[in-house]
Amino acid sequence: MRKPIPVDEAIERVMAWCREGEKEYISLEQCDGRILAEHIEATMPIPWFDRSPYDGYALSAEATTEASSDHPILLEVVATVGAGTVWDGLLTPKQAVKIMTGAAIPDGANAVIMVELTKEIEKEGKRFVQIRRKVDEGENISRVGEDMKQGEIVVEKGTMIHPGIVAVLATFGYDRVPVMKKPKVAIISTGSELLHVYEPLEKGKIRNSNAYMLQAQIRRAGGEPILFGKVADTFEHTLQVIQKALREADVVITTGGVSVGDFDYMPHVYEHLGAQLLFNKVAMRPGSVTSAAVFEKKMLFGLSGNPSACYVGFELFARPFIKAMLGQSKRYLTRAQAVLQKDFLKPNPFTRFVRASVSHQDGMLHVEPVGKDKSNIVSSLAQANALLVLPGGTRGFQAGSRVDVLLLHDEGDCVWS
Ligand code: AMP
Ligand code: MG
Repeated sequence: MRKPIPVDEAIERVMAWCREGEKEYISLEQCDGRILAEHIEATMPIPWFDRSPYDGYALSAEATTEASSDHPILLEVVATVGAGTVWDGLLTPKQAVKIMTGAAIPDGANAVIMVELTKEIEKEGKRFVQIRRKVDEGENISRVGEDMKQGEIVVEKGTMIHPGIVAVLATFGYDRVPVMKKPKVAIISTGSELLHVYEPLEKGKIRNSNAYMLQAQIRRAGGEPILFGKVADTFEHTLQVIQKALREADVVITTGGVSVGDFDYMPHVYEHLGAQLLFNKVAMRPGSVTSAAVFEKKMLFGLSGNPSACYVGFELFARPFIKAMLGQSKRYLTRAQAVLQKDFLKPNPFTRFVRASVSHQDGMLHVEPVGKDKSNIVSSLAQANALLVLPGGTRGFQAGSRVDVLLLHDEGDCVWS
């Protein structure tokens, strides 16, 4: 007899085995969607020279103390600098340099007045700028380090690289970016009833949908899926493919064959390998037969063949394991509170993860089950954007109750590349 353990404990047993993976360097152009393998520390202040944030005139603020609309002052314009060019003279208090956004502030200048507040005039073949107000020292100067100070940690390791982080990386000159290697995750589908998607249907057979679903789930979690195809329900074939997968992948996921049927060989394979069984029964629905075992420090997830059980088993156990290998601190599905919109009155001896749909209404999260909820159902997986969590030992929940939900498509932490 198998002894069910609580979901939390099953997760803990799995996570106790996770270790952080390796890093690799990839080009800046390819790095978005990957996970940073090192902190990004400001190796220099940004900006690294004082710059003008506007088009205007760089000047010495002291020269403007007397300026007002009644008493405009005139400064001689001795040069014009655009972004990328530098005027290397030394400005005197009676002078100004016309300066464009992004250009370096000339020596001797300590403020910029915006071009809109000035008028340029010509007198005796010379250029002058007329100024009608006092300018304060430091006004309109982007100071060294204003954006990022040298030594500051700008982005932490384990963060998924998004477009804003790409900008920071480029600013510091990373043409190669340290990212975590994607853990290789093998997918093995067991079941003599399975057909490849391109094979013609035959009576009694079904298409292998789990493999492709898992492939997408693994990618979303940041792993690199490797399809090991389907294996018939024989001990030898199953063992042989699992051994191959263990040699080639960091994590091995099997689907099906993990229960107590006559042709369920996974328990025998674990035993034959001498793998350390972490659990083979979890107090949850769907997926109570979900199993996990460790062989030579590699995790074997034995997920149910039932599509919804397979999906839930992956999200609860394999996803955080992969994310931990990637060094991500946020590993688990986002948990939120929502108001149940319909009665769900089935008594729950085990914790239920009900495929559900959440939506924001009047500043609150509403949730309702998407319909068919048996573990063999595929359609509800396509409709669900959350799992409604109903703890075990309850008699069901009435509409209006506050319930926990796990968000499935939380874009902030998906990896897409
Ligand atoms: P099992 O876990 O092997 O007892 O399978 C449970 C149910 O899931 C059976 O109805 C199987 O036919 C079905 N099933 C198993 N593997 C897959 C798969 N890869 N894709 C879709 N359904 C599957
Ligand atoms: Mg089977």
